[in-house]
Amino acid sequence: MKILVFIETDNGDVVASSWEALGKALSLSDDVAALVVGHNVGDVASEAGARGASVVYVVDDASRAEFDLDLVVADTKAALAEAGTNALLAVHTGNGRDLAAAVAADLNAGFLADCLELRQEDGVLVGVRPLYSGNILADVRAASDVQIATLRPRSAEAAANTGASADIVTLQPAAVDSRMQVLEVKHAETGEISLTDANVIVSGGRGVAKDPELGFKLIRELADTLGAAVGASRAAVDAGFIEYKHQVGQTGKVVRPDMYIACGISGAVQHLAGMSSSKIIVAINKDSEAPIFSVANYGIVGDLFEVVPAMNEAFKAKLNKG
Ligand SMILES: Cc1cc2nc3c(=O)[nH]c(=O)nc-3n(C[C@H](O)[C@H](O)[C@H](O)COP(=O)(O)OP(=O)(O)OC[C@H]3O[C@@H](n4cnc5c(N)ncnc54)[C@H](O)[C@@H]3O)c2cc1C
Repeated sequence: MKILVFIETDNGDVVASSWEALGKALSLSDDVAALVVGHNVGDVASEAGARGASVVYVVDDASRAEFDLDLVVADTKAALAEAGTNALLAVHTGNGRDLAAAVAADLNAGFLADCLELRQEDGVLVGVRPLYSGNILADVRAASDVQIATLRPRSAEAAANTGASADIVTLQPAAVDSRMQVLEVKHAETGEISLTDANVIVSGGRGVAKDPELGFKLIRELADTLGAAVGASRAAVDAGFIEYKHQVGQTGKVVRPDMYIACGISGAVQHLAGMSSSKIIVAINKDSEAPIFSVANYGIVGDLFEVVPAMNEAFKAKLNKG
């Protein structure tokens, strides 16, 4: 099965989670091509080859500087025809899912959206995706010949850069009129490290309940020292201790940092679904029987209101952060 992977760009730079879609495709097939659409995206195209795509199709044009759905859909359909494949994989970002849904609609195909896992069975893609607000995880497959799927960010390992080189095939921009005009692009400037990009995450759960404000203040201080993002369990979000954008888990974000520090989180299966692929898991919980300890590499049985500040002081000393 030949798979075409859409490598998303933003302002000439790659959207890094695209490499995870490429990594997943390479784990499913020996025959993986990539598509890069944008302006001044030559480096991204070369990197797609270095990361394992055997052919990279590139549409590099000033008209593609901003993501314009009508144009990118037309380019993607042209690239599928050029590559001679019916299988398209993108990462489930805002743009990735718009693109995959629009291509699927145009080609009258099924769309496996927001997959946490993908496998191939008899040349057909089978996705595992959450349904009904995450209450069930379903195996889904498209009944159509055309196979289109998106993968949730951080659900797979990024394709490694091995320095390989690919055939780079330049495609002319598809000659279509767009029905939209991009007037302005505004990037959110939160000053916070994004959860899905963070190498280290410090998360808080209902264990902060006796003083949520202080609990999350201590968690943020530790996160600041470590250059980490702040995460949370759904119980902490539902209780209003912290905003939803911090939620990790089946109905929150899937993360895969180098280190995940869970403070006062019991380790419910829906939370583990979002963080159990972290490289190192540190759990702080006053209940030595808490299920989080079964996935933790390091466990500290204690009160987070004492342990977190002590860890912060120790890291500050170690990292010379005064
Ligand atoms: C459809 C569905 C989707 C869901 N999606 C998600 C999701 O995306 N993410 C998610 O997180 N959950 C999700 N949940 C909820 C999940 O089932 C759990 O209810 C939730 O994860 C529990 O959060 P918690 O661990 O913070 O709270 P609890 O389970 O209440 O655990 C709190 C922990 O803190 C410990 N503790 C208490 N005080 C302290 C202290 N002072 N110091 C140290 N430890 C202390 C306790 O021993 C306990 O282990 C979902 C549930 C459903 C049904």
